Amino acid sequence: MTSPEPAAVHWAVRMNHRNRVACSAVLAVLVVAQLVDTSAPVAAMVGALAWFGLYPQALYAISRYAPEPMRAETRNMRLDALMLGVWIGLLHFPLWVSLALVISATLHPVIFHGNRGFFESAGLLVAGAMGGALVTGGQVDLSTSLPVTGLSLAYLGYYLVILTRDAYRSASTAVQLRRELRESQRTLSARLEEIERLQAELREQALRDPLTGLHNRRHLDARLPELLAQAHKAVEPLSVLLLDIDHFKQVNDVHGHQAGDEALRHVARLIARHTRSADLVCRYGGEEFVVVLPGVATAQAAERADTLRTALEATPARFGALVLPLTASFGVAGVTDEARHPDRLIGAADKALYEAKAQGRNRVVLASQGEAPLPSV
Ligand code: GH3
Ligand code: MG
Ligand code: MG
Repeated sequence: MTSPEPAAVHWAVRMNHRNRVACSAVLAVLVVAQLVDTSAPVAAMVGALAWFGLYPQALYAISRYAPEPMRAETRNMRLDALMLGVWIGLLHFPLWVSLALVISATLHPVIFHGNRGFFESAGLLVAGAMGGALVTGGQVDLSTSLPVTGLSLAYLGYYLVILTRDAYRSASTAVQLRRELRESQRTLSARLEEIERLQAELREQALRDPLTGLHNRRHLDARLPELLAQAHKAVEPLSVLLLDIDHFKQVNDVHGHQAGDEALRHVARLIARHTRSADLVCRYGGEEFVVVLPGVATAQAAERADTLRTALEATPARFGALVLPLTASFGVAGVTDEARHPDRLIGAADKALYEAKAQGRNRVVLASQGEAPLPSV
């Protein structure tokens, strides 16, 4: 039979079938030789040939479709042991042939089931031998002719080589699998690292304003309460600057939005240059920016605001050949007993900014204490 093996046949079923076919072929020769030596009837020889020819095929035909191939193979190996035992009994226990059959019946179960496999197959072998002996009336003749002895030894050698080869194949498969496993673990952890990096990048991006690269209002909303709590705990001052570019709409209207965008980037760079790493710089809205200054009292914050205001006044933005003079108005507020709440603090700065606009723009106005109402939620 040379029909192609379906790929789905379990490896144990395939391996045992291959070994069973090869061993049965040699055993058929060995058993028939012994039967010839003992002048057994021709029917017995034909029976032996038929048995060793058909038995492996019959087992394979059943096991290849078994829902649980390993269970089917365990059952097959038990049947191997029982039937080889029967042949030992039928042949009258010839020593060398029996040894070849005993080894064939017991070693494979050991590979699959360890000690349990050995004792189980040995028990079945003995039971089979008893059964075979019953059929032949319990005759015992240990002797074998020289050719049968030689054939038995050759078969034993062949069988052991097959067994060792299979053990080698399983060992190298295991080594290969372990190597592949290590490799895929490495790939997996590299991917995980990449995912974590991308997630961190995404988290960071979600907190940044894409136009200026500064932090956005979401970040301010998250960080300002923390900074206020830290300042309160450390009994340190904290101030905020809220600045709004003056007549910015005109920049857009006169020079276009791209020029306006460049002006916003210019202001953002300028603010970043005038702040410390401890400060929190955010784009608050369209052309409004907030700078939180931890550890800085209101008067000092107003000085910082004025430095920034002067720098902006002195440094126009450039867009191609265009020179865009810019100014900004500033509202400054510091933490007081009344303005400890983030919304109140920003509210106070906003009110001061409104005042700066009202007074003619391009100036810094300090929030008057206790004036900012807490917005109703
Ligand atoms: P004021 O001195 O009173 O602040 O006048 P203003 O023109 O600056 O104020 P207004 O609020 O009327 O205009 C703000 C403008 O900012 C309107 C809007 O088109 C512009 N703006 C907001 N966001 C962006 C942006 O991302 N890019 C550009 N190019 N313009 C923006
Ligand atoms: Mg504005
Ligand atoms: Mg404005």
